[in-house]
Parts: sequence; C-alpha cells; structure tokens
Amino acid sequence: MIYLDNASTTRCSEKSAQIVKDAMLEDFFNPSAKYTQALNATKKLSEARVRILKSLKARADEFNVVFTGSATEANNLVLTSSMSKHKENIVSVGEHASVYETAKTMRMNGYPVLEAPLNEFGEVDENAFLELLTPTTAFVSIMLVSNETGAINKIKRLSEIARKINPRILIHTDAVQAYGKIKINLSTLGVDYLTISSHKVEGPKGVGALVYRKKAKLNPQILGGGQEEGKRSGTENLPSILGFVNSVENLIENLEDNYNKVKDFKLKLIESIKTYSINEGLEFSINGNPMESSPYILSCGFKGTKGEVLLHALEAEGILVGTGSACNSRHSGNRILFAMGRDTGIIEGNIRLSFAPETIKFNFDEIAKTIVRLAKKHNHTK
Ligand code: PLP
Repeated sequence: MIYLDNASTTRCSEKSAQIVKDAMLEDFFNPSAKYTQALNATKKLSEARVRILKSLKARADEFNVVFTGSATEANNLVLTSSMSKHKENIVSVGEHASVYETAKTMRMNGYPVLEAPLNEFGEVDENAFLELLTPTTAFVSIMLVSNETGAINKIKRLSEIARKINPRILIHTDAVQAYGKIKINLSTLGVDYLTISSHKVEGPKGVGALVYRKKAKLNPQILGGGQEEGKRSGTENLPSILGFVNSVENLIENLEDNYNKVKDFKLKLIESIKTYSINEGLEFSINGNPMESSPYILSCGFKGTKGEVLLHALEAEGILVGTGSACNSRHSGNRILFAMGRDTGIIEGNIRLSFAPETIKFNFDEIAKTIVRLAKKHNHTK
C-alpha cells in the first residue's frame, strides 16, 4: 500500500504506540486522585504540557496548554469562548470545518462574523483582510497551513497588521497541518491561541490541544470536575497525551531534514506528473503555489477526470489519496477551491496527496505514471 493521505491522519509511530500501551497498563491512575501513583501521573501530565510549550518555543510564563479530545474540540473551545457577541470577528474562508462551521453557527446565533477571502494561491488576501479590520475587531481566526491546499498564511505579518488596527484584538491560528512539519515559534508568532492535533503528527487519535496565552480570555465549554485548570473538565487521556508528545518531539528533532526530503519528493512527483500528462495530452493543474506551500500537501487534478473516480481507481492499485479534507468530503463542492477562483471542472477533478517523512521511500516516478495512466483512462474528454 502506498499511503498518500497523511493530512487526513497518520499512522501512529511504533514508539508512541508502545508508550501509549505501557501507560495504559502502568500509568493508568487518575491524575486527580491523591495517592502517590496518581501524583506520578499528574507529574507526567505537567511535564507533557511543558514539552508541548517547548516544542512551540513558547514561554511557560506566557502560555499554557489545555488538552482536548481533538483539534476540532480545541477550535470549538476557542471560538465559542473568545468570539465577541457585540464586536466584529473575522475568520478566513479557508478554515477547516471545525472553525468555519462553528463560526457559521455563531453567526446564526447573532455574532457578527466576517469572512476573510483568499487569493488565487489559497492564502488569506492581505489587502482584503486589512479592509475588514476596524479598531473594534475583537477576534481573528486564520489557519497557519491549509489542510486543503497546503497554502501557508503569513500569520506573523497578518497579526502585526491586525494589532496595528486594534492592539487588544485576540488572534487564533489553527496550526494542525503545520505542527511538526514547519518551524513554529509561538513567542514571536503574535497569536493568543494555537490549535494542534496528535493524530496528524504520528501520535494516537483522540487528543488535541489548545495552547493559549495566559492573559487571553478562555471560558470552559465542558464543565465538571475542573480538570485542565478548570478549562476542560473530564479525566485526561494521559496515555495518548504521552504518545502525542513523543511523536511530535521526534518529528521536530528531524524537522528540517524531513522538510527538505519531502519537498524534494513533492517537486519531483509534480515534474513527473507534468511530463506524463503532456505526453498523454492531459491537462494537469495544481491548486496553489507548489514552491511556496507546505511540501506535505499537494492539491491537484486533471481537467475531465473526476477526483472521486480517480481516487477509487488509484485505490484499486494500492495508492490511497484524498479528494480534499476528509471532514469536508461529505459535502458537495469545495468552498476553498471555489474561494480561490478555481473553475468547476478543476474543482470536480481535485485530489489531495499528502505526505509524511516515510513517504519518500516510495518511487515518485511510478506513482506519477500510475496517476496519469488512470487519469487518462477515466477522462471523459478522451
Ligand atoms: N484543523 C485542521 C487544519 C485539520 O486539518 C483538521 C483535520 O483534518 C482539524 C483541524 C481537525 O482535527 P481533529 O481530527 O483532531 O479534530
């Protein structure tokens, strides 16, 4: 099997799976209990928080971590807690459904929510964003890397622009597709909240986190025993948290090397697909700018070949790809490609290939050849 859907989820690393198993069998005590074994669990939990902050170069006196059951929950937590009912909030059109749909529901409940448009590369359009900002804009949510196209938003610059207009503005970034893959320095990024997810970084499923500036507003949405310093009740999933931290530390240790190798793989794959497409008379196109976007994601397609048909044809030959965000694929159309001005034919042809460091062991040329052969076979213009 050639797995090219790592933006949807990753295989848990062997080491993290072992850590999870060991913790489930040995460190199963409730961190809220009072005996020594439980205090040991509490200590490991506190250490995991510090390790997450370290992985983001965030200062422990400035930021804190609340562990959640997913990045979806972390995004819901920050939006429902920090958006203003009376002043304007801005989210980008390119956000993952866990931000976009939450903001949409809040708009229906009377919250003023504006949408920041995208440019042709899938990045937030800086000038259009600037036009939306006012001295009373209360909250902004813009993702760091798009799960759809890999487009990288210049968050530091966008937060500087926003803070010039309103120094008290609260800024959130969904860093799920950036974490462990591109360098993040939370101390200088200029945001108040940042979302991450374990299963996107070779950790177990069922854990996410919201990293938040201690001074920024954050009201709990799940009430109960007051775990996570009162920000999210419910017994913490310590085994998976330990697996999560181990996995991301391992990726970050090799971040630059992984980045260069995966980028090289992606660019060679693109070149091969282009060459075979020209030979076969197929029109291949990429959504976004492959030189500027995350090397881990390639959104592309062939005019006249439906993305979903190609996906299943590839599956039959052992190559697994996505047609865009798994969380979006139940809905028709593609809001993000549409917002980038892509035409319907291209949107229908869209497939998403997403990589992990271990992807580079596959033969890019064989993959390209297979993709083009199947794209031609199922092309309705041929
Ligand atoms: N944000 C982004 C950018 C994502 O890509 C995803 C998952 O695809 C999520 C949030 C949701 O993550 P989780 O599966 O942990 O809820």
